[in-house]
Amino acid sequence: MKLFIPGPIWCRDEVLKEMAKQPLGHRSKHFTTLYLGVLEKLKKALNTQCDVHVSTSSGSGVWELAVRNCARKRVLSCECGAFSNKWGDVAELNGREVVRIKVEPGKAVKADMVADALKKNQVDAVLYCHNETSTGVTNPIAAVAEVMRDYPDVLFLVDAVSSLTGIELDVDKLGIDIALASVQKAFGIPPGAAVFTASPRAYARAKEIKDRGYYFDLLAFKSNAEKGQTLVTPCEPHIYALNYQLDAMLAEGMANRYSRHKQMAEVVRDWARKNYALFPEKGFESNTLTCATNTRNTDISALNKELLAKHDCVISDGYGELKGKTFRIAHMGDMQVSDMRQLLQWIDEIVGL
Ligand SMILES: *Cc1c(COP(=O)(O)O)cnc(C)c1O
Repeated sequence: MKLFIPGPIWCRDEVLKEMAKQPLGHRSKHFTTLYLGVLEKLKKALNTQCDVHVSTSSGSGVWELAVRNCARKRVLSCECGAFSNKWGDVAELNGREVVRIKVEPGKAVKADMVADALKKNQVDAVLYCHNETSTGVTNPIAAVAEVMRDYPDVLFLVDAVSSLTGIELDVDKLGIDIALASVQKAFGIPPGAAVFTASPRAYARAKEIKDRGYYFDLLAFKSNAEKGQTLVTPCEPHIYALNYQLDAMLAEGMANRYSRHKQMAEVVRDWARKNYALFPEKGFESNTLTCATNTRNTDISALNKELLAKHDCVISDGYGELKGKTFRIAHMGDMQVSDMRQLLQWIDEIVGL
């Protein structure tokens, strides 16, 4: 089945085959060589001098890591939909005070809002979602990064779960302390692992914090990775898959990869504008998924039933309270422009557009 939902995403057979290899002893030289290679390739693909780590968890685990290691007491949570809201909740569940900026679904969290909130509130870190998957909004992170420059003690923690490797994110230039992503989104790998960058400032902050826990202790990630090791038995199938996918990404070229995502997005957006309407605020539409307003009241579950029966694929209904009011089509990972055109043609035939 081909999943056009914004995670998990359809994966190439070659990626699945990599994951079917025999396990390695995770303290063996063979594993260390594989893992150090993967970490190097991640740095190259993400174009960063920061360390990059792999977590045997989904992206939400790294939400928890970021908060526990980088915030002593209080965070500013920038919320524009279900996923960014949830990160604020996770901070609260981990005992942090949470100051929230909340905008309506479909809107972006702008730099002036962040500047205003930082003027009024003393916080240890800002939680910012690069690409809000529930509304298809890409937030203006470069402008927010400018604001962050005036607050060198406030760490910049970024959820790039559904954008990393699909939409360019210049971690070093933007001064991002932690950027995190799940592999089942733009990486084009089955779910079960997450990837994150960590800046020297993030490590320094973690050193000040005693209560970092065990599984998501940032300093344990650092000391183990330096030896090509992991704290616990890692998700080896995903590390094989990352190794394979990163080679493919670097062969494609990251600039080409970002431009392919943009091209796919343009095809889907043009179609959505013509037949429905775009849900995100103009100028903030995501290049990894399109969220359309369901102006025709198309029955999305009926549409999916037919897509599944006739073409072995599905798209995504709106998320949470946006169910029925919007629908989402993912265009990320290893999908091609031709896949998107084919999908849209099938939808046209079923809906009668
Ligand atoms: C999918 C997603 C998450 C949650 O990731 P999991 O891997 O399910 O933990 C968080 N944030 C965003 C923006 C997402 O798209």
